[in-house]
Amino acid sequence: MYAKAPAGQTGRGHIITCTIEHKAVLDPCKRLQKEGFDVTFIDPPKDGVVTAKMVEEVMRPDTILVTLMWANNEIGTINEIEAIGKLCKSKNVLFHTDATQWVGKMPTNVETAGVDLLSWSGHKIYGPKGIGALYVRRQRPRVRLQALMDGGGQERGFRSGTHNITGIVGFGKACEIAKQEMENDAIRLGKLRKKLEQGVLSQLDTCAVNGHADKRLPHITNISFGFVEGEGLMMAVKNIACSSGSACTSASLEPSYVLKSIGVGDDLAHSSLRLSLGKWTTEEQVDYAIGEIVKAVKKLRVMSPLYDMHKEGIDLSKVEWAHH
Ligand SMILES: *Cc1c(COP(=O)(O)O)cnc(C)c1O
Repeated sequence: MYAKAPAGQTGRGHIITCTIEHKAVLDPCKRLQKEGFDVTFIDPPKDGVVTAKMVEEVMRPDTILVTLMWANNEIGTINEIEAIGKLCKSKNVLFHTDATQWVGKMPTNVETAGVDLLSWSGHKIYGPKGIGALYVRRQRPRVRLQALMDGGGQERGFRSGTHNITGIVGFGKACEIAKQEMENDAIRLGKLRKKLEQGVLSQLDTCAVNGHADKRLPHITNISFGFVEGEGLMMAVKNIACSSGSACTSASLEPSYVLKSIGVGDDLAHSSLRLSLGKWTTEEQVDYAIGEIVKAVKKLRVMSPLYDMHKEGIDLSKVEWAHH
């Protein structure tokens, strides 16, 4: 009679994450789901920001882990990490954050953020590829992890295998340089990003920046352009390094699942550009990008009958299309 777990509870515990996490978090969560854990994927609002209130609403007595990214890699939005950390602490729930887009760009403090586990990656902060780190809290609470790989017991048994010394040293150096330079970089890139957004938005109608206007990283933007065809847009701006989604998934023709999750329609998700500015991006390059994007969108719109109708004031949502 008691063989079956109560409805919605499998007995292994409940995990909270979000639909716009990186695949590095989504895929393991899906695997855990198959292994018998209950996983809630929070659907973020249109601004892309996950708040403590949203987490609290789905928290349950059997919740064991909350895993939410510090900042989103595609749209650059920042979650309410400190408040979520506080909430998790008050409920004795472990809190992991994928801080790959945050560490090295913005000041990071695991104490004030109330984070128990924090992961990030070398190559996003100008370090080597193939190396990353996981911060594991040792006190209040002491987090006990099960190793993913057995064999050798290196790194206190957390990760077996001979250390990748060149990767570790390079990653350490990258962190050191980031610590020295990130404050100035953030100020400079924040100004350049705003210039890029304003430059594009002031010269084109029917386009919008995706995600919250202020709760965002200084150096990432994501802009949707109405009435242009996505693939044409990508082709027309091929002198600019940009993508339609994350670099990791833009090989597929599917529109970005992140944009879809925050309510951007299929068409607009296809005709969106994710642009990021880096340490070596100059103002001249930003001016060039503005010029190229504006030129490309104007050119593509000349070929768009829908854009003509829109300009004539026809409400396209009310048009009855012939079906074949
Ligand atoms: C790039 C990225 C990852 C994946 O890191 P890799 O080292 O490239 O596997 C995970 N999460 C976020 C937010 C990222 O931006």
